[in-house]
Amino acid sequence: MHWTEILIRYGEISLKGRNRKKFVDRLRKNMKQAFRDLATVKIKAERDRMFLTSDSEEELQQAMEKLPSIFGIHSFSPIAKCEADLEAIKEMAVQIIGDDETAGKTFKVEIKRTDKSFPLVTGELQQAIGAHVLRQFPELSVQMKKPDILLHVEIREEGAFLTSKVFKGAGGMPVGSNGHSVLMLSGGIDSPVAGYLMMKRGVSLDAIHFASPPFTSDQAKEKVLDLAERLSSFGAPVRVHVIPFTDIQQTIGTQVPNNVSMTTTRRIMLRIADMVRAEENALAIVTGESLGQVASQTLESLTAINEVTATPILRPLISTDKLDIIKMAEEIGTYEISIRPYEDCCTIFSPSNPKTKPKLEKVIYYEGFTDFEPMIQEAVRNRVTYEMPRATNDEFHELL
Ligand code: ATP
Ligand code: MG
Repeated sequence: MHWTEILIRYGEISLKGRNRKKFVDRLRKNMKQAFRDLATVKIKAERDRMFLTSDSEEELQQAMEKLPSIFGIHSFSPIAKCEADLEAIKEMAVQIIGDDETAGKTFKVEIKRTDKSFPLVTGELQQAIGAHVLRQFPELSVQMKKPDILLHVEIREEGAFLTSKVFKGAGGMPVGSNGHSVLMLSGGIDSPVAGYLMMKRGVSLDAIHFASPPFTSDQAKEKVLDLAERLSSFGAPVRVHVIPFTDIQQTIGTQVPNNVSMTTTRRIMLRIADMVRAEENALAIVTGESLGQVASQTLESLTAINEVTATPILRPLISTDKLDIIKMAEEIGTYEISIRPYEDCCTIFSPSNPKTKPKLEKVIYYEGFTDFEPMIQEAVRNRVTYEMPRATNDEFHELL
């Protein structure tokens, strides 16, 4: 391998004038976390781009394999460095072109001459390198517009830097650069995808999960922890708060009429989520709701549920079709976990005939017969918190 460093382009974050430093610092921190097992990899952050270097080719390669899942990176290129000397550059160019299939391919050399004292001007360099490559690979033909292989050569004072590859990054913004929110994480398909999309927009997450043992199993909880761990691989640790929800669900079951119990359950879940949010200094609540998917996700239901709080509720999947959500879940590696067959609390307690158009006044009226507040406070107090990725506590706090 001839790569000596990796060039990282920020994309969107470079547009954010004043906040740029904050974003670059956050990206650097997230990358440090992603590369925590790669002791030799060094990160050098500049205003518009970043470089990864390492004495170990193997670790550089491993770092490159992790880059596509780090948000805030627009694209990246492995770079080969050689002496700023025409013969050395020609030789390196041949090595790099030789990496790829050349039969029937088109090709172009592009030069950036940052070091203006270099003896050859841009046109001469382009000519000399191009001719040399064509002698070695006569099957190539030159094409100026959209060539198959674009060899980019930058001449700087410290040397010449060559690359022929641009890999697409994950896009988005560095996780944590756009604040902190809580994600209502069920064991279903939708909520992990919703969490992923918010992380992609730079939001770091605490997850909240409602469990109703013994009606919900340990495996159902493990599944949620595995989902959170998967999410944490996209750039920031995720805490999971498991809320004991059995008493509340049973009370709803006996005190609230069947046809509004689903709405009441959701309202109480949201009240609890909002209290945890406040304690964790998070600003918004994220859910996996998608309009019209089930009875609790009609506009009427969402309105009735939403009434318990003024906190912004972010629903990144509100307009997404189920099949597209499934496709995303497969791509991000949560689908396989989500389809494990353990049921969550809403499935087990859900009434057979939930109202698709609950009337808020009625819901409030029926809820009024029971004082849920002490139970809600107790559930918040008795939550059990897990830290993902599963690591020792010390390691986890270093990551934050
Ligand atoms: P999902 O696939 O995310 O479970 P869903 O289509 O099954 O979504 P619902 O079960 O109606 O829809 O849940 C809607 C949203 O409410 C979920 O996306 C999630 O954000 C939240 N939610 C539901 N159940 C739980 C739970 N047990 N713990 C935490 N959040 C939950
Ligand atoms: Mg669900």
